[in-house]
Amino acid sequence: MSSPWSKVANEPVQTASLADIMSEQYAHQLHDKELQQQQKKQTQKQPQQSPTPASYSDVAGTSHNATATAATDADEWEDYSMLLSGGMNKETLPPEVLKLLEDEEESDAVIAQMLQSQFDHEYNEELRRIERQQNKQSKVTVTLNKFLRSGDAEFLHDTEADEDDEEDELYRQKRDWDRFETNEKMLDAIPKCGFKVDKEGEMITKHDPQLCGVRNAQRVMSFPPEFPTGDGACFDMKLSNKVFNQLKAYSRRGRADRKEKVATAEMGVDAATRLLLYKLINNQILEQINGIISTGKEAVILHANSDASYTGTNEHGHGNGVLMPPELLPKECAIKIFKTTLNEFKQRDRYIKDDYRFKDRFSKQNHRVIINMWAEKEMHNLMRMQSIGLNVPDVVVLKKHVLVMRFIGDNHNAAPKLKDARLTVAELSCAYEEIVAAMHKLYNEAKLVHADLSEYNILWYEDKCWFIDVAQSVEPEHPSALEFLMRDCGNIVNFFEKRGLSNIYTKEQLFESITALNAEKHNTAMLERIHTKGASINQATVPNQQECPDELKPLDYPFELAWEKSQQEREAAAALQELKLEAEAEKLEDNDNDKKLQDNDNNTAKQEQQ
Ligand code: ADP
Ligand code: MG
Repeated sequence: MSSPWSKVANEPVQTASLADIMSEQYAHQLHDKELQQQQKKQTQKQPQQSPTPASYSDVAGTSHNATATAATDADEWEDYSMLLSGGMNKETLPPEVLKLLEDEEESDAVIAQMLQSQFDHEYNEELRRIERQQNKQSKVTVTLNKFLRSGDAEFLHDTEADEDDEEDELYRQKRDWDRFETNEKMLDAIPKCGFKVDKEGEMITKHDPQLCGVRNAQRVMSFPPEFPTGDGACFDMKLSNKVFNQLKAYSRRGRADRKEKVATAEMGVDAATRLLLYKLINNQILEQINGIISTGKEAVILHANSDASYTGTNEHGHGNGVLMPPELLPKECAIKIFKTTLNEFKQRDRYIKDDYRFKDRFSKQNHRVIINMWAEKEMHNLMRMQSIGLNVPDVVVLKKHVLVMRFIGDNHNAAPKLKDARLTVAELSCAYEEIVAAMHKLYNEAKLVHADLSEYNILWYEDKCWFIDVAQSVEPEHPSALEFLMRDCGNIVNFFEKRGLSNIYTKEQLFESITALNAEKHNTAMLERIHTKGASINQATVPNQQECPDELKPLDYPFELAWEKSQQEREAAAALQELKLEAEAEKLEDNDNDKKLQDNDNNTAKQEQQ
């Protein structure tokens, strides 16, 4: 047989069968072994015969006993290659192998399995050796178990090596992989008094340097996940206070950036928003962004700390749009990020498209710009409300769809919503009075209707009500302003009613007290739709008017109609009053004239008598 990869040799190549080669090698081995044994014997006893090296073929013929001896010596893994040479000693083979060998057809497969098994065993041995060597040098223990070959388990004899393996396994199980667990138990064993007396009678305090070291090591494990700590298994990691403090300081470095990343990643804001937030930090307006206060359908609210080093300009000397002097910059801020998805936008457009302040800009803009307008609207409304003395968060800065304002609350704790606040009856009553007065002021002085006023958008802080979430607030001229106001009145009255406050307005009374419009007399069609027919405000004011049933369609400019109507009535009443007064005046005049005439008559009569 010639090799297909080699050049064809000119000289004929001598061929040999694989079995021959194997048996030859094996014969070699046996021969050497025999020689060694003989030499040994000769050195122990007196040599009587000089050793005559046997020919390879002789040895091959009588090699089976010697093979068996070698195998049962059991200091080596059994070499099954002998089977290939056709020779075998049945007494030394395990019964399952014999059984298989009886079946001639299967014997080839058995031989293959045995060889594989031998190979696997050697392979696994090598892995264990590497493992032992590695673990000797390193503090971190590695295991290569997952690379072990499974064939090793087949056809195993009880050898010393196997006993070693078992010991290894036991050792592995006994090893304390999680030293932290053990250490934790040890630390917990120290009672509250702060010391413990051990078996040797020595006192261990909680300030014991050993214990402190272990505790510090444990604390390192609770550093942020992006700080690589290793697993610290299998050995007692101890850290001095000094090292621990340094690590802690290091782990906090760049925390603002990381927190900003975490917060924004959690809420899934887009890259543009992330950039805006990053700029706020970079411009030294904010120091760090701490996390989410609330995620709603339309906006995400984050908590942030302002930068104490803010001077009114950033390090490049640019102004940065902050709406207050540096000394008034609140320490804690709330960042409202308006979501820019289309669905939420559709909900909003009915508030903004009819607001004359945004009329010119509405139709031509894309969604992102409209969301920016929405944020701008919240800013304007907050400022307008603040200007008439209502309690609202101060606006710090507006950047596109990101609005930074004062955080209502202390030390990262947001003030509770009115719905969550625990109020005494007196406080409840105060809150009611305050809200009614605020609604009145808002409508009549700020010329605004909140349009989403409820116990969810009023915060209770320092015994006062704070109004938030005013992006949707509209002016009374807005086509749906009165509907929104009626709904606001309903929300407020319902809340206080549910809380059991007595002597409060009905929603119609509240509406009338705010607008001086009688809900029953004025614009009854519109009001009926909302609170008598039970139509939802969404249905009644749905942006796509084709979807709205005819009977629920909002009237054109109901406020103006109502206003006009009431104006006409007022004028009519005034005219009537005037007429009445005129009539009375005329009457009085007539009376006077009559009196005068009568007086004249009387006088003339007297004169005639005289
Ligand atoms: P949404 O449109 O999601 O309702 P809001 O403006 O009502 O947005 O804010 C949602 C929540 O975030 C509020 O209910 C309140 O708990 C909290 N929040 C909003 N602004 C502030 C602020 N300035 N200070 C403290 N908490 C706030
Ligand atoms: Mg809200």
